[in-house]
Amino acid sequence: GPNGRQRGGMRMPMAADTVIISSNENPLGPAPVALEAISAAAKKGGRYDREYSSAMTKAISDQFQLKPGYVRVYPGSGGPLDLALYSNIGPDKPLVVGDPSYEQGFRAAATCKAKCHMIPLDKTTYKYDVKAMLAADPKPGAYYIVNPNNPTGTITPKEDIVWLVKNKPAGSVVIVDEAYHHFSNQDSVLDLVAQDQDIIVLRTFSKIYGMAGVRAGFAFGRPDLLARFENVTVNNRQIGSISLTSASAAAASLTDPNLVPLRRKINRDVLDDTLAFLQKNNYSFVPGAQANMFMVDVKRPGMEVQKMMMTEKVAIGRVWPIMPTYVRVTVGTPDEMKKFQVAFHKVMNEPTV
Ligand code: PLP
Repeated sequence: GPNGRQRGGMRMPMAADTVIISSNENPLGPAPVALEAISAAAKKGGRYDREYSSAMTKAISDQFQLKPGYVRVYPGSGGPLDLALYSNIGPDKPLVVGDPSYEQGFRAAATCKAKCHMIPLDKTTYKYDVKAMLAADPKPGAYYIVNPNNPTGTITPKEDIVWLVKNKPAGSVVIVDEAYHHFSNQDSVLDLVAQDQDIIVLRTFSKIYGMAGVRAGFAFGRPDLLARFENVTVNNRQIGSISLTSASAAAASLTDPNLVPLRRKINRDVLDDTLAFLQKNNYSFVPGAQANMFMVDVKRPGMEVQKMMMTEKVAIGRVWPIMPTYVRVTVGTPDEMKKFQVAFHKVMNEPTV
């Protein structure tokens, strides 16, 4: 498609001068400490990793006072997200998701032949409607919440997630995907993991840490919930283990106290500038975005605008069926967003196809 996404998750190369703001990647790439760690670790790459994965685990466990056995490391978070979903849903264990949200939940339900309840986000705040999610099914296997949400970038207050965890039927789990957590001012729900609740939390280094291609991520949960990952038999694609270079970069990134606040501010400034441009030009957008993406209403089939932007060499993100006139756009560098503004203005003032 215009995103350059092939089947199976492989992405196609794009012309070197294309502005790529389609996949919620971080244009800053890995932090300097991560790059240094990678080159040092690569020299030991003839051996299996005996230090970096545990350094990564220790750094995060210290930060959140997690007991041993409550965290596992993976190459990215998409793999363990599948494991969290597959180990809790099935033909008699439906999944409850928000809409629009990251499609991996919905896809996992199809794979597992589980019913998928797609509950629209709140119409004004675009937060997850946890009351409607609870009412959707008497005996679900899992609830999937992305916070901040992809594609809207909006926040679901922590107390709403806590309420769902406390009120949901026994035997179900709440899966919270915190891929975009660091871009927001939101409190994490990792303390619920430490409190042994029925919750699985996912984190990735693909977003604020700029390591989408390097691949590193975490799954957090009670040891019995994580142990169930091993029983997954449906579509049990090889997730594999993290490389020592990736683990070294992740561990180094976690120990740099300035990295997250610095990058959060850089992203926020560019996001605010871009939303101000949209506002000034009377384009409407989903309010309240707190991540490295936003959704803008193009008042025509979003896919048309996505294609027209591509001819201007600006790759923007995809469209969700529930919001067919909105496109998702990732926050790039200030220079990339200037190019976005010029191309978007041009495309929006061209006659519709
Ligand atoms: N979860 C969400 C909400 C995402 O947006 C993404 C990627 O875009 C992922 C998970 C998976 O990313 P990764 O496997 O790179 O951690």
